[in-house]
Amino acid sequence: MLLRLPRSLSEAQECLNQGAVPIGGATLVWAHWQRDGFPEQAMSLRELPEANVIGRGALGAAVVLHRIDDRVPEALRRAAAAVGTGAVRRTATVGGNLVGSTLRCLLPAALVLDARATVLESDGVRETDLAEVLAKRPLLLSLHWSEPVASRYRKQPGEAGGPVPLAVAAALHDEGGGRTRLRVAVRDGHDVLSESALCPAPAAAPADGAEDTLRALRRTALRDLPAPAWEELAHLVTGLLRTG
Ligand SMILES: Cc1cc2nc3c(=O)[nH]c(=O)nc-3n(C[C@H](O)[C@H](O)[C@H](O)COP(=O)(O)OP(=O)(O)OC[C@H]3O[C@@H](n4cnc5c(N)ncnc54)[C@H](O)[C@@H]3O)c2cc1C
Repeated sequence: MLLRLPRSLSEAQECLNQGAVPIGGATLVWAHWQRDGFPEQAMSLRELPEANVIGRGALGAAVVLHRIDDRVPEALRRAAAAVGTGAVRRTATVGGNLVGSTLRCLLPAALVLDARATVLESDGVRETDLAEVLAKRPLLLSLHWSEPVASRYRKQPGEAGGPVPLAVAAALHDEGGGRTRLRVAVRDGHDVLSESALCPAPAAAPADGAEDTLRALRRTALRDLPAPAWEELAHLVTGLLRTG
């Protein structure tokens, strides 16, 4: 297998057009390739600047999970810290987690940030939404979002090989004109649902502000979530609205 390390978008595009398979930290693909055979060419984005950004409103697909720190919103940081073991986090990448894994612990956090994806295709770079990234699995270069007012993430403890642990995320977004929107996402089993509702700004929130917001969320597709998921979500949302 030839491992290619493009340093520019045009080199990456050339690799893509020549059939190179994207690879992150190989924490998932290595075992598959050992069993089923290696591709002729693979391409790592670790030398590509556009895939290594980490900072206000941006996270590159080649960034290794353990490098995700307080330059990104809390929800994303906590989601990355909750993935697997330290050894996995030191090797696995954002792209491998979002596009390649089935658990996708980063997904609820990316959804509540309302993140957009920058992808590279044979005819160039374009922006798309996360739904398309999951459905079509293009070459992910980076995620971008508008900074939230505040965000939270919680994943229930789980055992390796056991049921997929519940994960919930929430973020507050200032929409201007005094409007604040709460976005929430819940991973229940392998399904990830996300919804949003207008809510009071944290500083102005009356004591029952969280109740009203949760009632609004109960009128969305989240209404069918099982009770434990609701409890976890209500706890997260109440804390977020109280403290911002
Ligand atoms: C012990 C263990 C525990 C784990 N626990 C968790 C957990 O708790 N939560 C969780 O979410 N995940 C968990 N995982 C999965 C882990 O997140 C993935 O192994 C990891 O994210 C894959 O990242 P990688 O960079 O190694 O991807 P790779 O193995 O290199 O690639 C995986 C797939 O993603 C594709 N890919 C990689 N980068 C890109 C890109 N930029 N664009 C498009 N496609 C790309 C590859 O082509 C391949 O199909 C665990 C894994 C292990 C081994």
